[in-house]
Amino acid sequence: MKSCPKCKLGSPDEATRCDCGYDFETKKLEKSYLVSADALSLEELSKVKSKANNWLAACLLTLFFHTLYLFYVLGDGSAPVFGILISILFVFFCCQYAVAKGYNWVWGLWGLVTFLGLALLVSKPYRKAPSRI
Ligand SMILES: [Zn+2]
Repeated sequence: MKSCPKCKLGSPDEATRCDCGYDFETKKLEKSYLVSADALSLEELSKVKSKANNWLAACLLTLFFHTLYLFYVLGDGSAPVFGILISILFVFFCCQYAVAKGYNWVWGLWGLVTFLGLALLVSKPYRKAPSRI
């Protein structure tokens, strides 16, 4: 048993790093192995980000057309099929965006409340595990 000089927590002798992030070999404070379980490396993050941003662009594009459609409907009242189609497409893209960010696809259903839902999805941090809610 050895104890950490930083946080005084006891660790098994074979441990190379304390839960607080203190590394017994380099004797420096590093990133804790505990918090990195869900976090992405910089390389992974840039990959995930570029993929997610493509879906975000698709979301914004459909949202734009949806808004355009709403204005059109207010004046005319026709073409409901187009409105439904673009709404489904928007929610679908939101689901893809959620999954690309590392969330369960059900998060994409927030797209049903359009702007608010998309804002919520954008504000969520990138994660590793796509299967978890
Ligand atoms: Zn420690």
